[in-house]
Amino acid sequence: MAFMSVSRRSFLKLLGAVPVAAWGVGGRHSLLHAFAGDSQMPSKKTARVGLVHSPIYKKHVPHLSHPERPQRLDAIMEALAAPELAALLVAVQPRPATEAEIRLCHSADYVRQAKRDIQSGAETLSTGDTDVCRDSLEAALLAAGGVLAAVDAVVAGAVETAFCALRPPGHHATPDRGMGFCIFNNVAIAARYAQKKHGIARVLIADWDVHHGNGTQETFYEDGSVFFFSTHQSPWYPGTGSAAETGRGAGKGATLNCPFPAGTDGERIVAAFREKLLPVANAFKPELVLISAGFDSRHGDPLGMFHIRDEQFAELTAILRQIAGEHANGKVISVLEGGYSLEGLAAASAAHVRALAR
Ligand SMILES: [Zn+2]
Repeated sequence: MAFMSVSRRSFLKLLGAVPVAAWGVGGRHSLLHAFAGDSQMPSKKTARVGLVHSPIYKKHVPHLSHPERPQRLDAIMEALAAPELAALLVAVQPRPATEAEIRLCHSADYVRQAKRDIQSGAETLSTGDTDVCRDSLEAALLAAGGVLAAVDAVVAGAVETAFCALRPPGHHATPDRGMGFCIFNNVAIAARYAQKKHGIARVLIADWDVHHGNGTQETFYEDGSVFFFSTHQSPWYPGTGSAAETGRGAGKGATLNCPFPAGTDGERIVAAFREKLLPVANAFKPELVLISAGFDSRHGDPLGMFHIRDEQFAELTAILRQIAGEHANGKVISVLEGGYSLEGLAAASAAHVRALAR
């Protein structure tokens, strides 16, 4: 693995790694302790997992009682500070996305409108149901840029996989419209960036959020170079994602939707990944695998009625790692989308990150 050949100092510099204490999670279980000596290095069979996070992600504050709240990230970061998980993680420092990078997926008109809404002190984006505050633009740019930092780290071989614990989420944001708690489409921008910056030809985006990732689908609907696969509740917000939506033109066949009714359990979702996604992914041969990791499909989430259990999120992760292992040199980047039970987010994220490392 590449990390064995770089010095600790240059490796940290490459990643812009910071002590976990700087994130306000307590320094005792510093993520950096994996570097303390060879005896504490993860075994060669264990992938090093990059972790993208920043306290700035908590500066995006929707109205009181909104489910997409800053405390979601506290719950995740506390869970990931457990020693067995912290030992697997390497901090990857996020950076703000540039406007040119945001415009890889969003129209100039929408970017201007979103900026105007936020800077004018609006409480909601004029394009849709996304609460904002004056710091939302800073958080949204750092969220999109955080995934780009993860792309750079994974492509450089500094880490094999990465989890981006960020907000606002992104998968409902279309090229010209923020909606569904999303401002910019973090995962879509990352796919385009990986293609443009790193010459990656084919990207798979798998979305297990309980809601259909309409923004991601729309972005790549006529583009055969990014395959979009989604399992989601139907009928449910935002109303798109029927099995008949399969792409158009050059994108025909590169969108695969698996809608399921309320009450669906995790076994059926795992089966969809295994039976529907695996064969098409093996034909598509992605050079990078991105995950829209929404944990509102977990059992007990207040905004969804699926029953995926933590060990099944681990199974879904393992299937995607298998695809990446065969075609993408193991490169998997997971990006937080929904998930509104704090306890559920903590448990599911821990299971997911463990599986990203296995
Ligand atoms: Zn969702």
